[in-house]
Amino acid sequence: MDYLSILTKLVSLDTSVPPGKNYKEAVTYLEPFFKNCGFQTQQVEIPPEHAENRPERVNLICRRANPGHPRLIFYAHIDVVPAQGWPAFEPHIEDNKLFGRGAADMKGAIPALLMALEKGRDQVLNYDITVMITTDEEYSQASQLRYISRFLEPLKGAYFFDLDSNFGYVSVANLGALQMDILVKGRSVHSALSHLGENAVEKAVPLMEALLKLKTRVAARKSHIAAHPESGLDKMTARLNINMVQGGLKVNIVPDQCTISIDRRLIPEENLEDARKEILETLAGVQNVEWEITREFDIPTLPPCEDPITDKLAAVLKEVTGEGGKYGEMGSGDLANIVVNEWGGQEFGMGVIRTESNIHGHNEFVRLKDIEDLAEVIYRFVTV
Ligand SMILES: [Zn+2]
Repeated sequence: MDYLSILTKLVSLDTSVPPGKNYKEAVTYLEPFFKNCGFQTQQVEIPPEHAENRPERVNLICRRANPGHPRLIFYAHIDVVPAQGWPAFEPHIEDNKLFGRGAADMKGAIPALLMALEKGRDQVLNYDITVMITTDEEYSQASQLRYISRFLEPLKGAYFFDLDSNFGYVSVANLGALQMDILVKGRSVHSALSHLGENAVEKAVPLMEALLKLKTRVAARKSHIAAHPESGLDKMTARLNINMVQGGLKVNIVPDQCTISIDRRLIPEENLEDARKEILETLAGVQNVEWEITREFDIPTLPPCEDPITDKLAAVLKEVTGEGGKYGEMGSGDLANIVVNEWGGQEFGMGVIRTESNIHGHNEFVRLKDIEDLAEVIYRFVTV
C-alpha cells in the first residue's frame, strides 16, 4: 500500500474547522481503501440538529464483523485546526518527516491503520473491528458522537482504540475538567469620585489571591497513575489556573464588572462535585465581595483503563519499537468520557503525535517511521 500517497492526499484536502469543509470529499476518498481491506462501509451524514446546524458533517463507519469476538472500535477524526499563516495544505517531505496541517493530529494515523488492516486482510482477526472516522473533533464533537453511536452498536463492553493520541506509549487515563467564569460585581462612577463607587477589578484581587492559595493545595495532589516523562511530571497531577481576567471599560471609569475565568483539571481519583464545592467555598470565604458563576463547563473524571488489553498493546509496542509503557494524559477530552460514562465501553489510545510535532502550530509534522511502526503495532495487536 502506498501510504505516503494516501497521507499526501489527505493532508492536501483542507478539512479545517471552523468552518469544517471537504469532509465528504475526504471520507469518499478513504472509503474504497477500507473496502479493499475487507470492510463494509457506510457514510453517515450527521443531521444538522446534532451538529450545531452545520451542514455536511459526513462520517465514515467501516466494519469487519467477527461474531463471538470482542468489539474493537478504532476512533479517528478527519478535521484539523486552521492553518494560521503557513502553506499547511501543501504537504512536503523532508528528513523522513511529512509536514502539513493534520500530519500528526491526526491524519497520519489513518494510513497506518489502513496498512495494518490490509496486511491482515486474509487473516483471522482477534476482534470484531469497526472504524469510525469522525468530524469536528477540533471544534465540538460530543453531540455528533452521541448521534453516531447508533451505528456502532453493540457498545457495551467495546474497546475504543483512540488514534488521536501520542506515539510511543499506551494512553490509559485522562484528566477531568471544570471551567468556571466568576463575575465580580461593582458599581461604576467617575474615577475621581471612586469613593462613591465599587471597583470590580480591585474586588477581584482578593478572590484571585484565595484561588492561588487553593491552587497550591490542588497542585500537590498526585494520581497513582504515571504521567509520560515528556510532560515533566512523574504522576498525573491536579491543576487550577486563572487563565483569563476581563474587566474595565476605560481608564477613567471605576469598573462595575470583572470576570475571572478558571480552569481546573482533575486527576482520576478526584470528582467534579468535590472540586466544584472546594472552589465555591474558597470564593465564599472572601468577605465583602459580590460575585456569581456565569458559565460552567465540565468533563467528569473516569477511572483509568486497567483492562489487560492495554498490557497486550504495550507489549506489542515494545516488541516493535523496543520501548513503551502505559501512561495517563495531562489532558481531557469528550471521547473517553462518553465511551466510559455513557456507553459502558473502555478507552485507550496510541497515535502518531509527538511533543515535537507542533500540532495546532506552524510546520506540523509526522515522522514517517512512526506511521510505519504504528501500522505494525496495530497489525500484531489485532492478529496475534
Ligand atoms: Zn486530534
